[in-house]
Amino acid sequence: MASRPSGFEMRNKSELEPETPEPENPVLQCPHCDNADASEFDYVEDVIAYRRIRGFSENGHLVVSGQSDIGDGDNDRLVCHNCGNESPLPGGRLQIDWD
Ligand SMILES: [Zn+2]
Repeated sequence: MASRPSGFEMRNKSELEPETPEPENPVLQCPHCDNADASEFDYVEDVIAYRRIRGFSENGHLVVSGQSDIGDGDNDRLVCHNCGNESPLPGGRLQIDWD
């Protein structure tokens, strides 16, 4: 039995679909089910929410802001909705634009 890779892999689309006219067009592939449809993946990270302390209310309760600032994420990974598994990001070749 062949062992499965531990994380998502970056491939050129031409490796999956040889007739694709744009051979450098990258795709992600789930290491568990081989799904290569990026619209079925979520980018997941653990974040810390920072909330301001407003003080104490008249009845002695700590008053914490309902609004929060989100810190930088950690433990970044991808979740595949086709199989439900999550795996580490591919190393090296993946470039990310945040919008
Ligand atoms: Zn999958």
